[in-house]
Amino acid sequence: MFLVGELGRSMRSDGILGVGGSDQSRATAVVVASRRRWLKRRETWLVVLGVALHAVYMLSIFDIYFKTPIVHGMDPVPPRFSEPPAKRLVLLISDGLRADKFFEPDEEGKYRAPFLRNIIKNQGRWGVSHARPPTESRPGHVAIIAGFYEDPSAVTKGWKANPVEFDSVFNQSRHTFAFGSPDIIPIFCSALPHSTWNSYPHEYEDFATDASFLDEWSFDQFEGLLNRSHADPKLKELLHQDKLVVFLHLLGCDSNGHAHRPYSSIYLNNVKVVDKIAERVYHLLEDYYRDNRTSYIFTADHGMSDKGSHGDGHPTNTDTPLVAWGAGIQYPKPASGNSHSDSVTTFVDKHAHDMPTPYDWGLRRVERVDVNQADIAPLMSTLLGLPCPVNSVGNLPLGYMKLNEAEEVEAVVANTKQILNQLLRKSYIKSSNSLFFKPFKPLVHHSFSLSQIDELISAKSYEAAMKLAVDLRNLSLEGLHYFQTYDWLMLMTVITLGYTGWMIVLALHVLQCYSSLSGDLSKKEHLSVQKKDSGKVYISGCLLMAILSVLNLVEHSPPLYHAYIGMTVFLWTQIFSEYRLIRGLWKYLRERRADYFIKLLFAAAVAVVIVELLVHSFTERKLYTWFFLIAGVVASILLHFSIPWRSGIPVFVCISCWFLSVFTLMPAEIPDNNNLVVTSGAIIIVISLAAKWLGTHAEGNKFWQSITFHESRTQMCSMLYCIQIFLVGVSSVMVFLSTKHRTQNQELHSSHQFINWLVAGSSMVLPLFSANGILSRLSSIFLGFAPPFLLLSIGYEAVFYSALAVVLMAWILFENASHHSSKVKESSLSENNTEEHITIGSDERYLQLSDVRIPLVFMVLFNVAFFGTGNFASIASFEISSVYRFITIFSPFLMAALLIFKLFIPFMLVICAFSAITKLVRVPRLGCYFLVILFSDIMTIHFFFLVKNTGSWMEIGNSISHFGIVSAQVVFVLLLFALTNLYTRSIRIKPLSTSPSLKTL
Ligand SMILES: [Zn+2]
Ligand SMILES: [Zn+2]
Repeated sequence: MFLVGELGRSMRSDGILGVGGSDQSRATAVVVASRRRWLKRRETWLVVLGVALHAVYMLSIFDIYFKTPIVHGMDPVPPRFSEPPAKRLVLLISDGLRADKFFEPDEEGKYRAPFLRNIIKNQGRWGVSHARPPTESRPGHVAIIAGFYEDPSAVTKGWKANPVEFDSVFNQSRHTFAFGSPDIIPIFCSALPHSTWNSYPHEYEDFATDASFLDEWSFDQFEGLLNRSHADPKLKELLHQDKLVVFLHLLGCDSNGHAHRPYSSIYLNNVKVVDKIAERVYHLLEDYYRDNRTSYIFTADHGMSDKGSHGDGHPTNTDTPLVAWGAGIQYPKPASGNSHSDSVTTFVDKHAHDMPTPYDWGLRRVERVDVNQADIAPLMSTLLGLPCPVNSVGNLPLGYMKLNEAEEVEAVVANTKQILNQLLRKSYIKSSNSLFFKPFKPLVHHSFSLSQIDELISAKSYEAAMKLAVDLRNLSLEGLHYFQTYDWLMLMTVITLGYTGWMIVLALHVLQCYSSLSGDLSKKEHLSVQKKDSGKVYISGCLLMAILSVLNLVEHSPPLYHAYIGMTVFLWTQIFSEYRLIRGLWKYLRERRADYFIKLLFAAAVAVVIVELLVHSFTERKLYTWFFLIAGVVASILLHFSIPWRSGIPVFVCISCWFLSVFTLMPAEIPDNNNLVVTSGAIIIVISLAAKWLGTHAEGNKFWQSITFHESRTQMCSMLYCIQIFLVGVSSVMVFLSTKHRTQNQELHSSHQFINWLVAGSSMVLPLFSANGILSRLSSIFLGFAPPFLLLSIGYEAVFYSALAVVLMAWILFENASHHSSKVKESSLSENNTEEHITIGSDERYLQLSDVRIPLVFMVLFNVAFFGTGNFASIASFEISSVYRFITIFSPFLMAALLIFKLFIPFMLVICAFSAITKLVRVPRLGCYFLVILFSDIMTIHFFFLVKNTGSWMEIGNSISHFGIVSAQVVFVLLLFALTNLYTRSIRIKPLSTSPSLKTL
């Protein structure tokens, strides 16, 4: 669309498709009418297409980024042991226990977990277990118990307890006893027939008290069970069988960490509590069985940050302690150099594997074996002689196990086969559906490797067998990733092509309908020729779509694949059906001189820079500060060429931009400042007085005419104006009164409530009756939305309202000035072609290259309307106190509606100014809307590639919501257009006949 302007200018002289002259004045009326109808249909169609397209492509992220890694139908592979190392296993998970608080001494130099420390030094093995973000309870427990890192796609299933959907150590066990939190235990046990479990009611998780009693609860439950067994022979028999798992979930540290932070004495004391519980469980079971066939594993699902939260990839969250002892577990070894290294070079939390043990832990002399969190699952399975959970991706940590050489190899081979089975299953599913299957090449000969391993084992060359098995396991893990991302290239290409196609369709539409090119294409003969030729294109498009659909059907692709591909093919068919237009453009471009391309490239570069700035502003709102600081200077320099300094406009534009730049430096969480809200009422009145003064004093001035011109009677308007000023004053007073009353009496006075509703409601209706000149209508809208905004404000955002309005005024002045100067230039050098106006109407002109500025500035202001007073995080934590001037009782829906309405008001101002500008400079508004959508889709593509499926919930959620929000802009902007049209449609500007000149300013 950058060509539009130049194209337009050249058309006037030669016409790119070789048609000139204006001899069909008879047919003109008919052509105009039919063309307008055609244009209207086409605009509606494009909007519908845009909405559908964004909805469909938005869903694609679930097929690309959030696909579950789980497959079904693999056979479990039990290790070939003569006798498993342990008969039963106790798993203790201290929820939210971070490694350093567990291992380090307190201020007095005493260690907090004396029992487990003694175990580390004398009886068992230890290490740091690395969790993968999101470091949350459910993914952590799934990694430990089922051996895989749960994909965020589980979010789409609502985090239901779904034990049948994945395998776990508990599933494979003979019986599982589990006690703990109602959020964790049911995930694994609720549908497990061979389990005995219990959880406390949710009310127990009261953050106010010391939560360590939750840990005691789990222990007491288990102790009670053992005591009952003395009287219950059936239970006793069950307890004496092999392959039993006991799982005690200890929530205390997590609750206390959230409530009191991990430096609090309550949290640190809880570490002592879990150590004590580990000791009691140990003695309880050793006394009960007296057979030394129990293994114990103590670990945590995630850590706890200094702020008392968890979720991200910070070491305080990902590093958790792991202590194992008992049957089948090695005794401690003295540390030898960097012996705690594992086969992996980095862990799942991206930390290097050779991080030295902190000195104050006092454990440098005991060998440390770090693991990935999912490695604990195969460790538990192997200890009990069970097959690893079939969905596990954990590597058996041999450093923990006391096995002979043959058993070691057998254990690793079972682990390898289990991972390989997943790969083979995935490969089988893909190959049975795909027509052009690309296998994972490194593992085509896996059966040969397996038989080689067996041969080596029977020849007792265990070392070689082990090496082969480990290599095979690593390759299998790589292969799993290969199949997880198998469709990525295809899907991403299709979606990117789709967005690009949509942008080209939009650009072609803008060129064809709102640029001077349309003059030629409206000629009947061209339309008919176009139709005949495009028929062929449509037929081939349909054919292609049919072929691809059949291919998709044969490949059993998910239903949405059809939609993605269909949409993309459809868009490109649309583009090819316009090939005459494209050819015309190409021909036109080739005839241009170099300076034209420089202009074009410059415009493109500016557009890309601005769009990228907007992309980054989603995470860094301070960028707007820089933008407005620079924009103020640049705009006033540019203005200097078209109007003299003494008009004051360049200075005004610069200062208003600088004023707005302040707000993005302020905190996103708005601090309470009632006086500021009251004062900003006065600021609003002052601004409107200035506008009024301008309106009356600039009446005779020709430069101001197009802004101040209005048709309606003045007497009623000045009364209306007084009422509006009065309402703003009242709302300002009401902010003061109702807040004061509420802080004193803890409630809102019902008369205050009534007045607030009345003032806010009535003031929004008033602008509809104001004079219909640009300045008077816009300042009336500004005044009309001020009372509700003030009444909903709590701090600096009330001032932001005025600052935004002033910048919008500056924008209008800027566009007015450049419109004038261009008009002066044009009228001095070009002929007035009447045919130019037949397509879009007498009061609109064609878009030019320089008009690209309008949608770009609009996008910046539209975004700053939101980011000026907050960011995405601050929406969630909105200051509720602002709505208490309207409601007394807690009602979430009404509160949310009021808060959303408050967010809408700045957007409305921007859209109103935008509509006014399109009228002022006489460009088609829908044309500008399509350009806005085009630019925001550059952002959409960028955010599409920025969607993350790893990291904390917040990072994942933000990346999705950024993509979703830009995708939804096509609807959102349109909706706001429709709403604000109520206020702006009656705006009149001075008819074209008089052309003012700048000399009079
Ligand atoms: Zn947790
Ligand atoms: Zn937690």
